[in-house]
Amino acid sequence: MSNEEGESLEVWIDQDLCTGDGICAQYAPEVFELDVDGLAYVKGEDDELRQAPGATAPVPLKLLNDVVDSAKECPGECIHVRRVADRVEVYGPDAG
Ligand code: SF4
Repeated sequence: MSNEEGESLEVWIDQDLCTGDGICAQYAPEVFELDVDGLAYVKGEDDELRQAPGATAPVPLKLLNDVVDSAKECPGECIHVRRVADRVEVYGPDAG
């Protein structure tokens, strides 16, 4: 899937499928973090975990490769990266 440079992307995690292995938090600790419940959540620049179901965080361009690698390696297949503009998934289990 291609990504035009500068295209705004956001990421969310389906915690129902998260195994808590922490791979995402190793690849992109700026965007993913494990909470005390052992599940991974996204976070933004304020470093606050976004825990509402389906909550998204922006994907900074400089972290895109790390976030995409996280989505590819995620054993729960529960990291979803989508375009902000039309909410179409570009990386993750539902990407075309
Ligand atoms: S890589 Fe996937 S399964 Fe593993 S902690 Fe992160 S979101 Fe959960």
